[in-house]
Amino acid sequence: MAVGALGDGGRITVVNPATGEAVDVVSADSAATVAAKVRAAALAQPAWAARKVGERVAILARFRDLLGEAQERLATLLTTEMGKPIAQARSEIGALGPRIDFFLETVPKLSEAEVVSRAAQAGETEELIRYEPLGVVAHISAWNYPYFVSSNVFVPALLTGNAVVYKPSELTPKTGLAIAELLHEAGVPVDVFVPLIGDGRVGAALLAQPVNAVCFTGSHATGLRVAEAVAGKLLGPLGGRLQLELGGKDPAYVCDDADPVSAAAALADGAFYNTGQSCCSVERIYVHAACAEAFIEAFVETVRGFRVGDPLDPETYIGALAREAQLRELEAQVSDAVALGATLRLGGKAREGKGFYFEPTVLTNVLPSMRVMQQESFGPIIGIQVVADDEEAVALMNATEYGLTASVFSGDRARAEGILARVHSGTGYWNCCDRVSARVPWSGRNASGIGATLGHAGIRAFQAPKAYHLRLP
Ligand code: NAP
Repeated sequence: MAVGALGDGGRITVVNPATGEAVDVVSADSAATVAAKVRAAALAQPAWAARKVGERVAILARFRDLLGEAQERLATLLTTEMGKPIAQARSEIGALGPRIDFFLETVPKLSEAEVVSRAAQAGETEELIRYEPLGVVAHISAWNYPYFVSSNVFVPALLTGNAVVYKPSELTPKTGLAIAELLHEAGVPVDVFVPLIGDGRVGAALLAQPVNAVCFTGSHATGLRVAEAVAGKLLGPLGGRLQLELGGKDPAYVCDDADPVSAAAALADGAFYNTGQSCCSVERIYVHAACAEAFIEAFVETVRGFRVGDPLDPETYIGALAREAQLRELEAQVSDAVALGATLRLGGKAREGKGFYFEPTVLTNVLPSMRVMQQESFGPIIGIQVVADDEEAVALMNATEYGLTASVFSGDRARAEGILARVHSGTGYWNCCDRVSARVPWSGRNASGIGATLGHAGIRAFQAPKAYHLRLP
């Protein structure tokens, strides 16, 4: 919650979503400090880039170790700031180590010059490619997985020799500052990784600066605003480097040859983990008529068993929503669906009392046009539709503007891969869902974004290839 976040005396009030109470106040940046910090980052970046890649690897390895040592303190802070159940906060921070390791191992290989053709004697020309850093990377980030989404950018960006100016969400400013402190303690110069605190206005002020890349993680609506804000600069210092990781309305399809009970267990977790606030949460389920009854029964029973409550309790599976306003959106999705004929099997409303809690909600007999099947819900709510065959499933899976991930549950790999090939998404899952690996690229189709993080593509995103033609005298 921002109060006059741009300008002298601007403050961000940190609210604990589990209680609705203010727990801290953090000073915000102003337009002047944003400009000064970007200037300082631009001045500091060349010396950082001039260091050997091995030195940068050692510093980021130290950061990984410090993160591990601080895991409990950081998990408690994250839970207090955005309501993530503590067990899931611990595992988000714990899972960062292997992600960072992928970059530590891979960036040195992708930093080497590539000789494309060799020259052996006078008059012959060697062709080679060297990879240069971009300069200053602006990263505007989301609150739902602040460690994952920010490290996907700052770890490869820093390792490849860039400076990063990082604006965490106003909902997780202290987590953003904690990440910066650990990076600085590990040895990243203070002007090479620079946090900016504030709301969307601070993000907009950052976009007005002469940065060399913009990486944005957030909603489709804000992504469009970001794209408009930088459109005129794409041919300038930005050099076309605009990356947008946006929302999704990720579909799952349970085929008639799937085991309905294990599919229900996996999909309930995929839909409700992180209280449904994952970009790759399962948000729509299609189930073949032949196994629909068994699947829906198992799904509803699994969700009924989820423990809702205090996110600091290690047994809690569903915590408070990070944003109070989302409670109204979820209620609107439920009432729209019920008014148009959906069956409410479980939940359906915000919990009374303190905190931003919404009951885990399952709707069946939904229609593709309903709000709950079209708009990103970003909460503990799911619609399930019965389909007659694979053709109908594919058509419905492709019937939103988004394209982040899609999953198919089936006993037959060829059938599942055939379906996934026809679905517009950046990631396809067979018999699993809601999963991210550092080894493969993370990207969206259509309204889910442009560019990629993770994998080799997510390292190349922070390098500019330069071609050399070198003729022997
Ligand atoms: P959001 O409201 O779009 O905000 C994202 C970031 O943009 C925040 O730091 C926000 O600041 C900032 N911002 C707001 N207005 C801005 C403007 N005019 N110019 C520049 N920056 C501006 O999204 P969110 O609620 O934080 O995150 C949830 C969304 O992110 C969901 O749609 C989710 O699917 C998506 N997401 C996608 C991925 C992916 O990998 N594809 C990963 C995680 C999340 P404040 O928060 O301080 O207002």
